[in-house]
Amino acid sequence: MDQWKALPKVELHCHLEGAVRLSTILHYWHKYGLQTEDHEADLKDYFQPSRPLPNLSAFLSVFGRSQVLYREAEFFRRIAYEVCEDKARDGVQLLELRYAPAHCSPDPPPASLPHPLSYDEVLGAVAEGIREAEKKFDIEVGLICLAVSTLGADSVKKTAEFAAIHRDMFCGLDVAGSEDDLEWCWPLVKGVGLPLTVHCGQDICSRAAMEGRAKDNVRFAVEQMGATRIGHGVLVGRDEAMVEWLNERDVLLELSVTSNVFTGAVKSVEAHPLPFFLSKGLRVCVNTDDPGVTGSGIAEEYAMLNARLGISEADFLLTSIDALRGSFLPDDRKVRVRERLDCALAAARG
Ligand SMILES: [Zn+2]
Repeated sequence: MDQWKALPKVELHCHLEGAVRLSTILHYWHKYGLQTEDHEADLKDYFQPSRPLPNLSAFLSVFGRSQVLYREAEFFRRIAYEVCEDKARDGVQLLELRYAPAHCSPDPPPASLPHPLSYDEVLGAVAEGIREAEKKFDIEVGLICLAVSTLGADSVKKTAEFAAIHRDMFCGLDVAGSEDDLEWCWPLVKGVGLPLTVHCGQDICSRAAMEGRAKDNVRFAVEQMGATRIGHGVLVGRDEAMVEWLNERDVLLELSVTSNVFTGAVKSVEAHPLPFFLSKGLRVCVNTDDPGVTGSGIAEEYAMLNARLGISEADFLLTSIDALRGSFLPDDRKVRVRERLDCALAAARG
């Protein structure tokens, strides 16, 4: 594992709420004296299931289980700091971390979280945790604001307005939730003035996927919404014409193989089209998505992809170089990272 930790990396797709250390979740869980709906449930398995889930919505329901802990600003400062620390220790040189204000500050509040923090309180705490980690560790971190379509139009509008007000604190905007909602979401987020990535080409239960045209969501995100990056896009599959279409538009796919298996988007690691994408020169990058749910950190993901799909050190470095070019952070924050990637690539090629 040391070899994979040492390799410099760029990671662009990781959800703060889905990357919380299990030990931190358990600390707050016990602090608040909480219990699961199932009193017999093994707590580790409750938050980090040891096997893939049937679909994306089942995965997201596990993701949402820690929402009951969102009670103190200190929780958000701590988890932001710890995620950056974990990534830095795994060799990540530049990280884009995303979170959903509407998920962290639910409105209306659910019975399990009667007094959520405000959007500003959460952002302030997250930004503080990131600042502290950047001072202590060798890592550049950008923050993406995520709008969740399944929470409804008012929520998406509120998130978009919040992102626009705090444009100086976010490097990009993400739209996630249901891929079926992209058409109505787009008018609500288009005026924000931040670069856009969109979760799509992932959900096998979306209307388009059920009708055998999952790629339409990817086309819509790129063509209509102007997304330069796609969150997942794995359902593009081994479609040469679609890969060429994406290449012509210089689109980057933010892939997360373990997560794609966990959400049922692919049947197995071996069935994942990542090697096909690489062979066709498609710009892709390797990410964890939700390591707090899958239990797989980025160095573990690299080791697993090397062992099971034969992805080499040089392949990984080239994906990080593509990721760096696609990163929403300003160029002056990329220079040092690029030098390290180039240096490691020269060494990997001998
Ligand atoms: Zn994601």
